[in-house]
Amino acid sequence: MKLLFATTNQGKLKEALQLLSSTELELLSLDSFKELQSVVVEESGETFEQNALLKAKFYGDSTQILTVAEDAGLVVNALDGRPGVHSARLGSSSADRNQRLLEMMKDKDDRFAQFVSVLCLYDPKAQTDQYFKGTINGRITNKIRGSQGFDYDFIFIPEGYDQTFAELGEAVKNQISHRKQAIEKLKTLMLS
Ligand code: IMP
Repeated sequence: MKLLFATTNQGKLKEALQLLSSTELELLSLDSFKELQSVVVEESGETFEQNALLKAKFYGDSTQILTVAEDAGLVVNALDGRPGVHSARLGSSSADRNQRLLEMMKDKDDRFAQFVSVLCLYDPKAQTDQYFKGTINGRITNKIRGSQGFDYDFIFIPEGYDQTFAELGEAVKNQISHRKQAIEKLKTLMLS
């Protein structure tokens, strides 16, 4: 069965392809659809579910292939849940986003944060959508730490660890992350 993992974020794509690689699915990415790569799908929803559906529906309807799209983000307690669904837009680059978040957190004692991943599986033929959610709790560091991963991986320490995702590396991250948990739920459904 063909499955399009539709994202323009290379960090997400790399992780998702690794996490789905053990299945019989024929995995496709937007690399196979050059005409869609430059299209920006407006993420106008107020929830991860709404934004995941906007993306999955656009790419699924455009390709007529069973499509998964993810909306994810970092939900920070001391910031009343921000940046949340706006995580990708907090700054213009990964370094900028991390600097801004550290600045917003500079006087905060409560460092609790949660990464959230919501996958929307959209079938363009039946026009149905299904959702799979994964979360991981952790805390925000005081400075950027590590050299692997992308975006907030450099300032997020998962619960039960002393290192950031960027220090732990992809082997550890892919065993415990929000994305891993959401993809496991998707795999359970697709392989049943
Ligand atoms: P979106 O799902 O395209 O709206 O983007 C989600 C944004 O949340 C990413 O661009 C990152 O800034 C952040 N994010 C989500 N998951 C992760 C992760 O696993 N590591 C680091 N940052 C993440």
